[in-house]
Amino acid sequence: MRNNYKFCPNCKGGLSRNAEKIFCRNCKFVSYINPSPTASAIPIEDDKVLIAKRSINPFKGAIDLIGGFMKTGETAEEAAIRETLEETGLKVNIEKYLGSYPDTYGEDNKPTIGITFIVKIVAGKPTAQDDVSNLIWIPIKNIPKLKFDGFKNTKEVLMDIYNLFGRDLRKS
Ligand SMILES: [Zn+2]
Repeated sequence: MRNNYKFCPNCKGGLSRNAEKIFCRNCKFVSYINPSPTASAIPIEDDKVLIAKRSINPFKGAIDLIGGFMKTGETAEEAAIRETLEETGLKVNIEKYLGSYPDTYGEDNKPTIGITFIVKIVAGKPTAQDDVSNLIWIPIKNIPKLKFDGFKNTKEVLMDIYNLFGRDLRKS
């Protein structure tokens, strides 16, 4: 649901809004400002994570997680597996649920919630496609040195990976 309505789509009256909803005082129209779910996949191999560089706006050129918007009827797991295949050509299995990460998308700051999984590559070679220009293997111990200039949840996810797995790697 778009959250940038100016007039009531029912009665063309003026709209009011608060943090949760946009609503009409004339009729009963309500549009809840709920996040759109996205699904992301973090492939991990040999103490490295595979991340993407964006080929399109918003944040063209910034590092990004592999993933995208969920489709109706899909599970988050199915969406993460589908998006990984579309963006990288890799077949993956879900290894572990990492967490859910709120963010926003696009010029009208549409709220999103990124459901994120650690995945294991079962077939294929990483090949950037779709809205990805490059795929890069990053050593987990180097994550804090990355330049995070894209979505805010990219940094949150990767720092969680670093805190989960980086502890032992920092010594080596
Ligand atoms: Zn109305």
